[in-house]
Amino acid sequence: MNLVLFGPPGAGKGTQSSLLIERKGFNHISTGDLLREAIKAQSDLGMAAKKIMDQGQLVPDDVVIGLVKEKLASKPEASFIFDGFPRTEAQAKALDALLEDLGRPLNKAIFLEVDHKKLTDRLTGRRVCQKCGATFHIHASPPQKEGVCDVCGGELIQRPDDKEEVISKRLEAYMNSTAPLKDFYASQGKLKTVEGEGEVEEVFSRLSQEVAST
Ligand code: AMP
Repeated sequence: MNLVLFGPPGAGKGTQSSLLIERKGFNHISTGDLLREAIKAQSDLGMAAKKIMDQGQLVPDDVVIGLVKEKLASKPEASFIFDGFPRTEAQAKALDALLEDLGRPLNKAIFLEVDHKKLTDRLTGRRVCQKCGATFHIHASPPQKEGVCDVCGGELIQRPDDKEEVISKRLEAYMNSTAPLKDFYASQGKLKTVEGEGEVEEVFSRLSQEVAST
């Protein structure tokens, strides 16, 4: 089964994907994570992407499509959850073509819906472990010890693109390029909407029901 999980930045895509992987055995393709890995490795691709990401803009389609293609080729038989990809119609069409080649079409595109007023607070309060990638929120889900990851003891940092001045750019990119994907997937009959507000476990329970009915 292949699922796209999409929504505005701060909707909880990463958190909910982690739970789907842990509890339902999905494999994960997060283009944001793949780009951050490239930045850590200081590759040319990573360095070019960092400049764009730090400004809250979208990385070019051919770059992210290339990353997804590579990752899919490494596990062609697996069930994938696509997190943060596609973000444009060109990416959505490329994903359809890649999955068609594998004979494993996309089953559903699940839109995580959250009131836009809540997104900035979710993003500015987010803290991420530099070592293992676990995510916390300074108010909603704080770590036991400030600045230290509960999972691995690594240092918690604020992502450079979670700073307030970058968030408005990310929301703008979302509105212009990604929100129209709702119509794209609705026209394929694959769009499902899940309410993304409330406790993490509540959202996960709604999401699981949607996944189970696939
Ligand atoms: P995320 O971790 O999904 O919030 O992504 C962080 C940033 O990486 C985004 O704001 C974009 O700059 C870039 N990015 C991630 N995925 C994509 C994508 N599918 N298309 C273009 N840019 C992306």
